[in-house]
Amino acid sequence: MSTATLTGACPECETDLTVPPVVQGETLSCPECMLTLRVEDITDGRLTLHMVEVQLRDWGQ
Ligand SMILES: [Zn+2]
Repeated sequence: MSTATLTGACPECETDLTVPPVVQGETLSCPECMLTLRVEDITDGRLTLHMVEVQLRDWGQ
């Protein structure tokens, strides 16, 4: 049995996240607190996420 998604929890707001398959080192955004999270490790479909400090990007509106 294989799963098409991975799960993890935001270290900041503890929201459960379900995401498409990602690889270690990729970054995600928490939909709740909008933090950028980096995938530190993946074990049995479970993500270990660490907060990443990012500079706000200028999207050039
Ligand atoms: Zn969050």
